[in-house]
Amino acid sequence: MVLNFPASGRWISGSGQVLKTVNPATGDINAEIGTPSPEEIADACIFAHQSAASDSWRKLKPHERATYLYRISAAITEDAEDLAQAQMLENGKALKECRQQAASAAATFRYYAAACETLESIVPPNRGNYLTVTTYEPYGVVAAITPWNSPLTMEAQKVAPALAAGNAVVLKPSEVTTLPSLTLARICEKAGLPAGLLTVLPGYGRDIGPTLLARPEIRMVSFTGGTETGRAIAGVAAKRLIPAALELGGKSPHIILDDADIPAACDGVIDGIFEGMGQSCVAGSRLFVPRAKHDQIVAILVEKAEAIRLGQPTGPDTDIGPLSSHHHRDKVEEYVEAARKEGGIVATGGSRPVGAQFDSGAFYRPTIITGLTNSARVCQEEIFGPVLCVLPFDDEDDLVATANDTAFGLACGIWTSDYRRAWRIARSIDAGTVWINTYKQLSIAAPFGGFKESGIGREKGLQGMRLYQQAKSIYFATA
Ligand code: NDP
Repeated sequence: MVLNFPASGRWISGSGQVLKTVNPATGDINAEIGTPSPEEIADACIFAHQSAASDSWRKLKPHERATYLYRISAAITEDAEDLAQAQMLENGKALKECRQQAASAAATFRYYAAACETLESIVPPNRGNYLTVTTYEPYGVVAAITPWNSPLTMEAQKVAPALAAGNAVVLKPSEVTTLPSLTLARICEKAGLPAGLLTVLPGYGRDIGPTLLARPEIRMVSFTGGTETGRAIAGVAAKRLIPAALELGGKSPHIILDDADIPAACDGVIDGIFEGMGQSCVAGSRLFVPRAKHDQIVAILVEKAEAIRLGQPTGPDTDIGPLSSHHHRDKVEEYVEAARKEGGIVATGGSRPVGAQFDSGAFYRPTIITGLTNSARVCQEEIFGPVLCVLPFDDEDDLVATANDTAFGLACGIWTSDYRRAWRIARSIDAGTVWINTYKQLSIAAPFGGFKESGIGREKGLQGMRLYQQAKSIYFATA
């Protein structure tokens, strides 16, 4: 059975090529999903535009619009297991992590419902005989383009604030993970969200992307994914003069200083790179350690990496599942080979796990590489897999210069018992997020995004709602 998708106010089968999604843990086909033709994309965008412009959405008072978001949040909680299973089947993440992400999606809708009710217009100081009120208006229809690594959280992070801001959303999920977005659309429908406010267009980015972004109804694009795709989308947005919010890749430095609690730091490093098989934009993939403590720290990390339990995502004891696709595993393997050729020493991992339960899945062992310098290809390019490179440093100046010697600037972790040092280094690192004595702690209330080639714009927090609005200043004469 070919699954339908929501477009133009109904669920359609689409006249594009049928898409098959594959379970990376077993190699089995999960689902066959219809995709739209260019004409169906055009119709869906026109319908979304009409839905966004209709009085029943555009003229809603903020607390009325918030009611929809609260209902969606409750419906997500009710159907959280469907969402978690949908993601697990398609990207192979451990079920327990998928369940946490479904809960996080519900929390995101709740946060933006509250933001919608409480965000204020501004009355700037008057500089003459007038009163100015600055209001924030929606763009109309925004395109949300999402990747495969964490669709549950990333789609909520775009759809919730864009709706709260008064827009309609056209969502293009990764072709690897379409089921979570279809499940979210069903949940929104069940929660009573009017037709046309959330459209899902399944299919390949290279087919759907250009047609979608060329549509005049699309007035803003919010993208999360690889830096090269982000650059291409920014080019299209520049030509069309529409804003583009880009959350891109990373090569984040994770730093252990000589005064750190080393066992705690090593736990943080292991989670920071291997949780989700390293398929996270904020993965701490370059570890900087004091030269004198290099061997001691590597020995602890190797022991911890070897204790990680790989397995089927449904397994109650599974810490990490497979990579998100067999194709992606090939890419990770190529990177590890490239590291070996550049003189890297594989301290652990560097191969597929052995055992019948791993035969058909895209599994790969957590890998730690030493003996390289920061200029090596694996230290400069985003691998997006379970590969940690350990780099020794000599002093703080050397550390900061080398940690910043990357095109990216997404995140950083610092482990130390000296908060003055932590503050000094945190301020010097080019990154949108810095964690001190913790890692990957994320709050929907705090802005998130990248420096340098890690992106433009900030999602989450109140700024994450303003991203989907444009300011309008209205002047009233007072004399
Ligand atoms: P992409 O950046 O290619 O894909 C992200 C999204 O963009 C997908 O929905 C994709 O669709 C879509 N897309 C692709 N081409 C276009 C286009 N021309 N116009 C509009 N949309 C498009 O990521 P990949 O899946 O190819 O992964 C490549 C690398 O990107 C990874 O190895 C990793 O390094 C990085 N990455 C970073 C992420 C992050 O969170 N920052 C997330 C995912 C990847 P489709 O999937 O159908 O091609």
